[in-house]
Amino acid sequence: MAFVYTLRVAILGSGPSGFYAAESLLSQTSVPVQVDMFERLPTPFGLVRGGVAPDHQKIKTVSLIYEKTAQRTGFRFFGNVEFGKDVFLPELKKIYGALIFAVGAKSDRKMGIPGENLNGSVPATDFVGWYNGHPDYSHLKFDLSVERVAVVGNGNVAMDVTRILAVDPRHLEQTDIAGYALESLKKSRVKEILLLGRRGIAQAAFTNPEIRELCELPGSDLIVDPNEVQLDPLSQEFLSSGQASNAAKNNVQILQNHSKLQLKNQSKKIVVRFLVSPTEIFGQDGNVSAVQLEKNRLYKEKDGSLRPKGTGQYETLPVGLALRSVGYKGLPLQDVPYDEKSGTIPNLSGRVISPETKSPLTGLYAVGWAKRGPSGVIGTNKPDSHATVEKVLEDARTNLLSVSPPSNADDILSLLQNKKVRVLNYADWKKIDSLEIQNGKSKGKSREKFTTIPEMLDALSHC
Ligand code: NAP
Repeated sequence: MAFVYTLRVAILGSGPSGFYAAESLLSQTSVPVQVDMFERLPTPFGLVRGGVAPDHQKIKTVSLIYEKTAQRTGFRFFGNVEFGKDVFLPELKKIYGALIFAVGAKSDRKMGIPGENLNGSVPATDFVGWYNGHPDYSHLKFDLSVERVAVVGNGNVAMDVTRILAVDPRHLEQTDIAGYALESLKKSRVKEILLLGRRGIAQAAFTNPEIRELCELPGSDLIVDPNEVQLDPLSQEFLSSGQASNAAKNNVQILQNHSKLQLKNQSKKIVVRFLVSPTEIFGQDGNVSAVQLEKNRLYKEKDGSLRPKGTGQYETLPVGLALRSVGYKGLPLQDVPYDEKSGTIPNLSGRVISPETKSPLTGLYAVGWAKRGPSGVIGTNKPDSHATVEKVLEDARTNLLSVSPPSNADDILSLLQNKKVRVLNYADWKKIDSLEIQNGKSKGKSREKFTTIPEMLDALSHC
């Protein structure tokens, strides 16, 4: 059937999953679409801007692909517009035939141990937002006058925060790291970072390039006790079973090899530990002073996975800061179904479903971490968003989405204008972008970010 109307799609969130969804929609020709992308911040790109570590500038160039999407006919950007504060589900449903939630996973998981809320026990994601100049975290203070830091978890976020704490800060000078973070890291007295994995080397969540980077980090020795990287019988069986990924095999190889190398006597140390779980964080005067670790052993679950179990053997290590890097968690959105356990929007292949009836809720979709939880790398989102868009198009072709009254492309503009929301369009973002690059130039940095929303809005007013 030929389409006589344009399908209006609202994408909530402008990170990789949102942009890949926009690209999939705008690069197809079977259904005419108009894509409006809403972003809570004045700036787009989600974790590419606020999550990817500043020493990974090459990874950030993925935003050039998103820039191309933003130039496509049919794309509009609505920055500084927050779902649940400035716009609400019933309003958007009147204007758009489809809403795609690309809101990521904003919060962090808890460990559920005593002392977790002491001063100096902080989600690693807060530290990430802080050094990246994210407006939600730029006001935070981190006490880097401490000598030893525990990083709990060994995923890639743990790798990032460990690297930023351990690298010689001169290597960050030309990046887009927030100015205040660079100054603070230059004054840092941190000498040792404990990287704590609750399972063994063969189950580590980090990927090969990230652990290699730590092995070769300028200004820091990676200390791997050869005993820590010996494989227990279950891991040995797993690695030789054919079920193990090449990444896991390589991780084992990289660290076993590294454990045999001479240390270079660098000024900082990263100590890698496996099979240990924090069981309590101790404090002095309300501040973190030590972490208690329990030695674990692995056991096999019914599904074949290897899980950690405490052995009752404990040790206590003095630390002044504990960065909890045990995973992100999505937060609920007003009027949108939410699964508390996974922190995601319940969905079937991207179609949002009612938690009660399990039936799809017409016109609502999810992509990225909001859809599948906080897993995968940036590129994982491309096929994932495309798969959801296929469902949107399928529903449009079967007339599921045509039942809503036809709306006008200006309806959203009037709605936001009536609410006096200061909306930033893509051209506004490009002005912020140029100013940041310009501000960075004089300091030899790739950009100097604005780190608060008022600063961004103020800078725009003077353009
Ligand atoms: P992650 O990869 O899921 O790692 C979480 C880590 O926390 C795992 O080591 C996990 O151990 C551990 N953990 C969970 N609960 C724990 C507990 N109660 N006590 C102790 N340890 C616990 O998550 P992430 O590091 O936040 O990264 C999120 C996603 O972003 C990942 O897909 C990651 O690859 C990606 N990312 C990629 C890059 C990059 O490409 N450079 C950078 C940053 C993030 P178990 O394995 O035992 O559960």
